[in-house]
Amino acid sequence: MKHNHKLLSALLLGAASLFSVSAHAALNVLACEPEWEALTKEIGGDKVKVSSATNGLQDPHRIEARPGLIARTRNADLLVCTGLELEVGWLPVLVQQSGNAKIAAGQPGHFEAGSFVPRLDVPNKLDRSEGDVHAAGNPHIQQNPHNIALVAAALSKRLAELDPADAAYFQSRQADFSARWNAAMLKWEKQAAPLRGIAVVEHHKNMEYLMNWLGMRQVGTLEAKPGVEPSAAHLGELLAQLQRQPAKMVIRAGYQDARASQWLAEHAKIPAVLLPFTVGGDAKATDLFSLFDVTVQRLVEANK
Ligand SMILES: [Zn+2]
Repeated sequence: MKHNHKLLSALLLGAASLFSVSAHAALNVLACEPEWEALTKEIGGDKVKVSSATNGLQDPHRIEARPGLIARTRNADLLVCTGLELEVGWLPVLVQQSGNAKIAAGQPGHFEAGSFVPRLDVPNKLDRSEGDVHAAGNPHIQQNPHNIALVAAALSKRLAELDPADAAYFQSRQADFSARWNAAMLKWEKQAAPLRGIAVVEHHKNMEYLMNWLGMRQVGTLEAKPGVEPSAAHLGELLAQLQRQPAKMVIRAGYQDARASQWLAEHAKIPAVLLPFTVGGDAKATDLFSLFDVTVQRLVEANK
């Protein structure tokens, strides 16, 4: 009898939650990158259902639009992407194939994080012979936590615009996130103080915002041109350059091939450092806070 009681109340509870969902459905959000999925969860709580088009071990510049992804795009109320041409190779096609007018560029359902932050590397003139140059500036903005804070504020407003009934809920989650985030930034900046001024080599120009935040200097890239895989000739030149002007370390993202940075590390006798780059780019980077915990910790350790 006792057992039956439990079952009955479980059934009633299930029915009640089913009812509240149908009365007021959560917003369906499709993020382009894992950092925006994580941020949408922070601000949206249980009023959003969110997934990401790419994971932390995929190159966000280029992915294949599989049928499952097209279905998720069709059902989305809101896209949360970087913009700044990062997804230019796949997102426009995906949005078009989905036939979902709510999330077309320029609609409230199309949120571009990159338009809310100060941009680095905006080219004076566009020369495609210089490789896969990002014409709207460097899109890898999530590497500076101050940018995450700016995007969080804008995202909370956008969620409220699309779901006005829950505006107060989004606003209070945003205030809570922002308090925890500001405290975490102070901690990271204190821990990273010894990194100021150090010279580093990176794989692709995707760590500029991180280096700009922590005052590190980029003295070379493994790619001779953006989007062109490292060549033996270019690596040889880079090694010669480092023998004249040494760098402290060579850094790469979780999604990038390790071979070129390991080769340089071995020959230049500097550490090769793997950074998560986004949530899920490393097993320890499970949310936005641990993403920067791990990033700062790896850099500080490599600098010892
Ligand atoms: Zn890039």
